[in-house]
Amino acid sequence: MITLSSYLRDTWQSGQDPQTPLYDPTHKTAIAQTSTRGLDLASALQHARTVGGPTLRAMTFAQRGDLLNKLSAAIHGARDALIDVSRQNMGTTRSDAKFDIDGAAGTLAFYANLGKTLGDRTFLLDGEAIRFSRSARFLGQHILTPKVGVAIHINAFNFPAWNLCEKLATAILAGVPVLAKPGTATAWLSVKIVELWLEQGLLPAGVVQLLVGSAGDLLDHVGPQDAIVFTGSGATGQTIRQHPAVIANSVPVNVEADSLNACVLAPDVAEGSDLFNMAVAEIAREITQKAGQKCTAIRRIFVPHEQAEALKAELVARLGDILVGDPAEDRTNLGPLAGPSQQRDVIAGVAELSKHAENVFAGKAPEGGCFIGPQLFWSNAGLDAAYVHDHEVFGPVATVLPYDGSAELAVQLVARGGGSLATSVYSDDAAWSRTVLLGIAPWTGRVYWASSKVFDQGTGHGAVMPALVHGGPGKAGGGEELGGERGLRFYWQRTAVQGDVQMLKAVLG
Ligand code: NAP
Repeated sequence: MITLSSYLRDTWQSGQDPQTPLYDPTHKTAIAQTSTRGLDLASALQHARTVGGPTLRAMTFAQRGDLLNKLSAAIHGARDALIDVSRQNMGTTRSDAKFDIDGAAGTLAFYANLGKTLGDRTFLLDGEAIRFSRSARFLGQHILTPKVGVAIHINAFNFPAWNLCEKLATAILAGVPVLAKPGTATAWLSVKIVELWLEQGLLPAGVVQLLVGSAGDLLDHVGPQDAIVFTGSGATGQTIRQHPAVIANSVPVNVEADSLNACVLAPDVAEGSDLFNMAVAEIAREITQKAGQKCTAIRRIFVPHEQAEALKAELVARLGDILVGDPAEDRTNLGPLAGPSQQRDVIAGVAELSKHAENVFAGKAPEGGCFIGPQLFWSNAGLDAAYVHDHEVFGPVATVLPYDGSAELAVQLVARGGGSLATSVYSDDAAWSRTVLLGIAPWTGRVYWASSKVFDQGTGHGAVMPALVHGGPGKAGGGEELGGERGLRFYWQRTAVQGDVQMLKAVLG
């Protein structure tokens, strides 16, 4: 049994018993353990503020970008070893592990390039100088400087590599040190990545710390210059937002939470057309990729009544071909859920969903491990299908909801989810599309528009691109990450500076 440690104040530190087990979900056996009991988290945060922060703020954007580039290369160089850890601790197939690990390396590389573009500066001007009168001697200018606190990253279990790196990339490039807390269930991969960076001597003191296990009293010690970025369930997000120290210090909290993402087919998508087939392939992939444990996965499928039976038949056929089993075997398409507690949650969610919608396909799954076969549901209740719109079952599960094909109802159905990370729309009809796009945009962080022209070129519904924002309103948490330079702004203070033009030029350059 491996005992995982936390990397705090530039050393690996183990917590006291009792330990929390981490599982190999394929065999449902404990393979590692960890504890954060007794660790001094107040001094870890202080270490980031006093050691890591000054180091990063003294570096230019180009130098911070160079650091990110090395972190990315280290991951890429150890890809196979990391894929193996992902399989053992999360039950991912090789392709699902690559989605997480390559996504991590790619996002770091993207922000490395942005650092190069931002160049030899340590802070940024925001907009142009502003005149207040005819005189050009007294001006106003907004500036953006890094906060002098610590970026606290609390991550979900489902992307132990990407979640760690996408958050870390923006904070480090912004000039703010990181204390990251991965979801405990799958934390081994995050530990491996930090070990790798340390073995290669890449991390300056205090710039990255890793808390492996429960958050303990971490949030009791947050201060007014800190920032929290959270990914996980809406309920935990609310607990964090309401923490007394977070409230007392006005600590900004970015939340990425549950999301009932939708896919909408327009009436012009004829059965058997390229666009129809593209939708079938994409929905089937969204249900099965990473065993459905993706925050962006399609959960609600809105299809006009005329095409609904055909879509269902195609999806059932596709899901019927999916082989659920040991991710170590090449022929396996769908591995287990991440652990026993995730399996319990999904089995309970499927049982509840079965009371509100018809289960039209339930895939076979082997006994023993944390497996569940892909599940397709069907509901004719439209806007009234309350459970389908309100509850995310975080596994290989989605529901088909036929509708009348009108753009207005499509908008209402998407909005009924209460705010989503990503919505896919399939149509070649510009007028219908305009109504739907402008109607769903306030409810959705990202819209994936699929028309016949991009049949073979799209990046896919579920893939988060670092150049585009990731996040969504309402139920999805109301947060926003990534989006190129936009992702850095969370870590900066915008200050309006008013003064004499010569002084502004001399001080701000
Ligand atoms: P979770 O149970 O809410 O846990 C998320 C993280 O919060 C974990 O690191 C967890 O630590 C930590 N945590 C739990 N209670 C805490 C507290 N009181 N104070 C501070 N930290 C605390 O969610 P999960 O089960 O890991 O992830 C699944 C959920 O995440 C799904 O609902 C999914 O939709 C959502 N998700 C959203 C996105 C997105 O980008 N919007 C991405 C991925 C997942 P422990 O692991 O130690 O409990």
